[in-house]
Amino acid sequence: MSCEICDYVSGKTGTKKLYEDSEILAVLNPRPAAFGHAIIFPKKHITLLLQVPEDVVKRMFVVAQQLAGILFDAAGAEGTNVMISEGPAAGQRHAHAMVHVIPRKSGDGLNFEWPQKQIPEDSMAKIQELLKVPAEQKKEAAAEKPKEEEPKKEAGVKDYLLNALKRMP
Ligand SMILES: [Zn+2]
Repeated sequence: MSCEICDYVSGKTGTKKLYEDSEILAVLNPRPAAFGHAIIFPKKHITLLLQVPEDVVKRMFVVAQQLAGILFDAAGAEGTNVMISEGPAAGQRHAHAMVHVIPRKSGDGLNFEWPQKQIPEDSMAKIQELLKVPAEQKKEAAAEKPKEEEPKKEAGVKDYLLNALKRMP
């Protein structure tokens, strides 16, 4: 399967490298939203952030944090957007997980703002219950019991996103 991002890793497509270790690579985005727009991705072909091992996620974000700092200090950025588009509905264009670090200046014409919605209190309470992230110990305790709902839900989201990406042209 051809993947533009994997071609950056193999060197088939030349890139301007910013950081590299055994697990991840950071390069200048060849089609940037702004001057200095960097992308950070796992070297392995992994489609979704959901599937990226936790230690690799950590490395990606540490490098994103460093790049954001460097963009402030060295490239005159007044701000940065650190972004992930997960799934085609969110604007994911490549079937390879990545983090974007986009330098910003006031009046640069980019717009990542959204209209703020008013959600009724009972709906907010419901979604809060659904979205609660289990604490580390709770997760371990839950692993001792036979798993029923949670893993299915997780797999469902992953499958949905993967299937949506497979339908991409
Ligand atoms: Zn890939």
